This record gives sequence, C-alpha cells and structure tokens, in this order.
Amino acid sequence: MKDSIGRTINYLRISVTDLCNLRCVYCMPAEGVKPREHSEMMRFEEIVQVVRVAAENGISKIRLTGGEPLVRKGIVDLVRMIRQVSGINEITLTTNGFLLGKYAEALKDAGLTRVNVSLDTLKPDLFKKITRYGDLATVWQGIEAAEKHGLVPLKLNMVMVAGINDNEIPDFMNLTMQNAWHVRFIELMPIQNQVSWGEDFPDPSDCYISTGTVLERFQHMNLKPIYQVEQLGPAKLYQLPGARGYVGFISPLDDDHFCSRCNRLRLTADGNLRPCLMSDFEVPLLAAIRSGEDISSLIKKVIEQKPAHHELILNHTPANRNMMQIGG
Ligand code: SAM
Ligand code: SF4
Repeated sequence: MKDSIGRTINYLRISVTDLCNLRCVYCMPAEGVKPREHSEMMRFEEIVQVVRVAAENGISKIRLTGGEPLVRKGIVDLVRMIRQVSGINEITLTTNGFLLGKYAEALKDAGLTRVNVSLDTLKPDLFKKITRYGDLATVWQGIEAAEKHGLVPLKLNMVMVAGINDNEIPDFMNLTMQNAWHVRFIELMPIQNQVSWGEDFPDPSDCYISTGTVLERFQHMNLKPIYQVEQLGPAKLYQLPGARGYVGFISPLDDDHFCSRCNRLRLTADGNLRPCLMSDFEVPLLAAIRSGEDISSLIKKVIEQKPAHHELILNHTPANRNMMQIGG
C-alpha cells in the first residue's frame, strides 16, 4: 500500500517487550523501566492478528525488536506463528546478542530469516560501561552462532557516540574485509536521553557525531559508494576495496532524503501502531482488537497519516515514549 506521498509501505517493526537485559546509556535509564501488567501487553495471538491484517494491506517484511526481543518468553514460537502468515516473506530480529548463542538455532528452525546485532564497541571494558551489564565475549558467541546457523547476511549496528566509540569506526569497517557482514553506523538520536549518562560520559548533547563528519574524518579508509537500483532499507551503502561485506550509514539527522526512503510502520509492545519513530501520533490497535473492531481501517489510517518527514531537526522529539518503548 502507498502512503500519501507515494512511498510503498511494506515493512512492520514489532516491539515484543519494553524490557531488556542491558541498560545502554543512550537508550535506557540505569534503573530500567517499570514492568507493565501482562494484560497491558500484546499477546502472541494478538500480534499475529495484526500481522495477518497488515499483510492483507501490503506488509511483507516483519522485524521483531524491543526492548530486547530475546527476553520475551516464547519468542521462538512467535517467529513460527508469524512464518505461517500468508504474504510475509521475511522475518528478521534486532538483538543485543546476549542470548543469541542460546536461541540462534531454534530461531532459524522456526523460520527467522536473519538478525541484526547491536554492538557499539570491540573493547570489553567499554562494552560493559556502555551497556552497564553486558559481556562482550557472550555477544561475540551469539554472533558466531547466528552465522553458523545461517541467520545471514548478519548486520552489525553501531551507534556512533562522539568521544566514546568514534575512534573504533575504522576497526568496525575493517570487520567487513574478512566477514560478509553489513556493518552499519547509526547516528545517535536525541530521544529521551538528554540527561546525564553517568560521570564517565560526556554531556549527552556533545555525543552526536554526524555521518558527514565521520566520512570526512575517515576518508583515508577509501570507502566506495554502492549505487543501488532499488534502495534496500535506510542505510546508504559503501564498500572497502576488496571487502567481503558492506559498510552502511543510517543518518536520520544528516541525510535530507532519509524519510523519502522510509517504508515502515511500528507496533509498540502495548499495541499502538505508529507511522514514524519520531512522532507521537499512534493508534491504539490492541484496544480495538479487544473490543472487536475492524483493525484494517485503522492500519490504513496510520499509513495515510505517515508524516512526510520527521521533525528531529527542529528539535521535536517523541514526548510519550523512549527508544526501547518504540523499538529503535
Ligand atoms: N535490544 C535490541 C538491540 O539493542 O538491538 C533491540 C532494541 S534497540 C532499541 C534497537 C536499536 O536502537 C539498537 O541498535 C540500538 O543501538 C538503537 N538505539 C537505541 N537508542 C538509540 C538512540 N538514541 N539513537 C540511535 N539509536 C539508538
Ligand atoms: Fe536494551 Fe537494545 Fe536499548 Fe541496549 S539498545 S538498552 S540492548 S533495548
């Protein structure tokens, strides 16, 4: 289905939980978020009902996210249930990788297509500092398990944080020389994270670094742009000479055409459908399902009302939810 400015909307990101086993400084408060009542969250049958009706309205790709999707009990069963929905031809999952070693094989068997793993540093101490709890070696085992069980091409997502991990950007790019991975650099977004991250961190307002600045600073890496006939996702792609994998930049703030390529809707864990990560507009699908309403017309309404572009640039950020509640 096309939205009001002609973008084809075929991708639904589903947050399956607000909870997480890590506390990345730019995403979650140190104390985490207050667990909600089970009854307020979408049950698997309700998620699948949304997927079914969304598929009838042109959605063919699903991404499971969170919070941390692998902490939701029964996540493998959910993948299997979504796999059976006619019209869905791709199911992916974004994870911090901590539990991936445990679940990779079962996820593949259930029908997951591939995974994105979020990883901001290759230094164990810094990893612990950024995530507040994490253990890099465990995540690395998760990445190896995902590769071994064919959840490929593997995508690594690194949020660029000035003064914290920007010096490691070349090391991350170099991972693509030996590995057929997509290593993607994401601009830090100021979504409910502009309070102090702790004494070891600079002021959050100093932590943004633009893609343009990074490309200029690391010109010597000799990245070559890849021209895609069809734009596949939000990343602008590059390649190092002789590399097996790709380097991508996801630049919601520094790319004027970012929103014109957006093909997605977002379903929150408590069942609200949003046309844009960075706008507060959302429609309560779960309430509609539970009162027996037709949700097809609501999904159409959300697609029709998808904003032409986000307003981060004007410093309008979502006021009602933070990143892990919307699903990143
Ligand atoms: N827990 C999973 C993970 O970390 O991959 C999935 C949810 S997380 C919210 C999804 C993605 O959003 C991660 O890649 C994370 O790094 C990114 N993210 C979180 N807060 C962000 C922010 N303020 N700016 C940019 N990316 C952010
Ligand atoms: Fe958890 Fe992912 Fe947010 Fe980190 S980025 S706190 S892993 S939801």
